[in-house]
Amino acid sequence: MRPTYRVTELLGDGIGPELSRSVHRLAEASPVTLEFVEVDFRLENRRARGKAVYDEAVETITATKVALKHPTTTAEESPNAILRRRLELSVIHRPVYTIPGVPTNFRRELDLDIVRIATGGTYDDPGRLIGEDGAVSLRIVERRPVREAARYAFNLARKTGKRVTSASKYTIQKATDGLFEQVTQEVGQQFPEVPHSVELFDALLGKVIMVPERFQIVLVLNEYGDFLSDMACGLAGALGIGASANLAFDPAGLVRVALFDAAHGTAPDIAGKNLANPTAIFLALSLLLYQLGEIVIGQAIKNATLDLLREGVRTRDLGGQESTDSFTEAVAMEVARRLAPLPTVHPMPSTPG
Ligand code: NAD
Repeated sequence: MRPTYRVTELLGDGIGPELSRSVHRLAEASPVTLEFVEVDFRLENRRARGKAVYDEAVETITATKVALKHPTTTAEESPNAILRRRLELSVIHRPVYTIPGVPTNFRRELDLDIVRIATGGTYDDPGRLIGEDGAVSLRIVERRPVREAARYAFNLARKTGKRVTSASKYTIQKATDGLFEQVTQEVGQQFPEVPHSVELFDALLGKVIMVPERFQIVLVLNEYGDFLSDMACGLAGALGIGASANLAFDPAGLVRVALFDAAHGTAPDIAGKNLANPTAIFLALSLLLYQLGEIVIGQAIKNATLDLLREGVRTRDLGGQESTDSFTEAVAMEVARRLAPLPTVHPMPSTPG
């Protein structure tokens, strides 16, 4: 019996339908059943039904606990911002790593898991002018989201055997960043087997460039995570083919809902032309399977995709010749091959002596 998981799928615009077909093909090739519960998140439906679409999405995602979101057009509103607020998604996990075959100016290997607190910092307060010559904004750090993000980072380290670095400006922002480091330290004490080091954030940026192999899981406050993600993606040359997990937690600190998406947008210029690169949504699906505890399948999807890219099986945006369909088929066949049950070996009958 194949294990069955229900997954909310938020249908998107532009290349969204092509990506959805690719994801379904890949799901068929994996040895679990993913039962996709679709919510129509396309622009016409959002315009026609307004808030009701968001209500439906929140209800469905809360029930299935995991969701895959295809890119959506930002028009009157930002669907991502609304979902983040309504689902209380407070942490973003963004893996960023060098992908052989993806052009980059950076000659070193990078393999980072950025765990970013998605709320607070200086981003929740637009600030205000004081007279004409000054302005202030409030920097907010709260114990709960820091604890949730730290627990997630340390659990990830425990599962993967990696180490955690927390980075901030605790020497200058003594109250806010000091609280962040203090809470991280407290959580870290519950994971004594996980190595944890602390860096000043500005120094971290330089060190990631000079000695990237020293960093694995990096835990940071909101704006630092924003800066670090873009810098790391730029180094890896993978601005458009990254994926992230957006997480909300229950009061006990366990993941309540997890929404996975690709970093790129709807690519209206190539929509419907069988040119879309499904790499990012495949990597999002791989993260989703990790979240479901199907680590081996998640790894097979990620490694099959990356190995094919390295071997030159690439879509046109990466300089290759493949279409969306042919690349998808190649990955699906490779995933099926890697996950095929090993043939049973019968022992040779012993020859009478
Ligand atoms: P975009 O990422 O859609 O496209 C930028 C360029 O990258 C285009 O040339 C496009 O063809 C190419 N590209 C993007 N994804 C690709 C893929 N998978 N395969 C091959 N080529 C790909 O960014 P944009 O043009 O600035 O935005 C278009 C729309 O997408 C806007 O409405 C924007 O608001 C929306 N958007 C949505 C999300 C999201 O839902 N997560 C993220 C970013 C942008």
